Amino acid sequence: MKDFHAAKNQKRTLLALKQARANRTPIDWSSYIPPKPEFSGVLPYASNLGTVSLRTLAEFIDWSPFFHAWELRGRYPAIFEHPKIGKQARELFADAQELLDRIIAKDLLIARGVHAFWRANSVGDDVDLYADDDRRKKLATFYFLRQQMQKPSGQFNHCLADYVAPTDDADRPPLQDYLGGFAVSIHGADELSEEYKRQHDDYSAIMTKALADRLAEAFAEYLHKQTRIAWGFGRDEQLSQADLIREKYRGIRPAAGYPACPDHAEKRTLFDLLDAENSAGVTLTESSAMHPGASVSGLYFSHPEAKYFGVGQIGHDQVVDYATRRGESVPAVEKRLAPNLDYNV
Ligand code: SAM
Repeated sequence: MKDFHAAKNQKRTLLALKQARANRTPIDWSSYIPPKPEFSGVLPYASNLGTVSLRTLAEFIDWSPFFHAWELRGRYPAIFEHPKIGKQARELFADAQELLDRIIAKDLLIARGVHAFWRANSVGDDVDLYADDDRRKKLATFYFLRQQMQKPSGQFNHCLADYVAPTDDADRPPLQDYLGGFAVSIHGADELSEEYKRQHDDYSAIMTKALADRLAEAFAEYLHKQTRIAWGFGRDEQLSQADLIREKYRGIRPAAGYPACPDHAEKRTLFDLLDAENSAGVTLTESSAMHPGASVSGLYFSHPEAKYFGVGQIGHDQVVDYATRRGESVPAVEKRLAPNLDYNV
């Protein structure tokens, strides 16, 4: 027991930021041709305008997390055969289908979302977005964090910027790479839920919110598919709904506040670029939480080697560097990234 505590308390040393950067994801850009999206700028979708339908989104629902929300552990559809919870899962699912059908038939919820592509190149651990093809006028910058943990040989210190073609090859002009972004939202769930509560139907009130969350995630999956199609490489994709849910496609859609980009503040940049409030009715609170609650947002990376990872613990050197890049004070960054700090403030 004593040894266990000793081992637990022993701090793993981090690499210096400079060393971590020298061990970045090794992507060979020399023969790479970035896919060019078929539109640039911002494209909105809305179920009340007929540009997306709740019925279509329902086909993209990943049902496993729905059961988890009701504390039934298992994977859909295998959960229905579970000896202990199978019956309860089947009943819950039947009730969910009934309410979902009613929501769709009567348009009780509204889906609004937006996606966009921007010309983009990485500059160190940042990704700069540009206003036009000569890539001189900067639109905005996304700031990313890099893993600093010691890695066994053959493994790398990842940073999301590694997946976007860099500008820093002096021998040739930067590759014409792009970054995508999205925000999707299901509107009306709070109001509908309140309505059920007034009718003393707490079950439907809770179910409404659970379905709205599922529809928001389904919308993110649906829009990611539209993004891959617009990028070209998604046109010949032959994936079942189950494969979509397992994210077996090319590219990723990391979300701010998740392990690869733990800083929620990056949502502010994304929302401004998307004009998310006007184009999808989604807003951010002071602490970068999304409103309505049934909302999802993130960035699209197209490179085939892009994958999810966790930034993990970061050192003071990276915090200072990141704060400087963002034009913020070190304490402001330390406050937001407290769970990732490798030191006591
Ligand atoms: N099918 C799931 C659902 O309906 O709930 C999708 C949501 S699940 C939380 C997976 C999503 O979380 C990914 O598409 C991505 O947006 C985000 N994500 C997962 N791991 C991540 C990571 N390490 N860094 C950033 N985002 C991550």
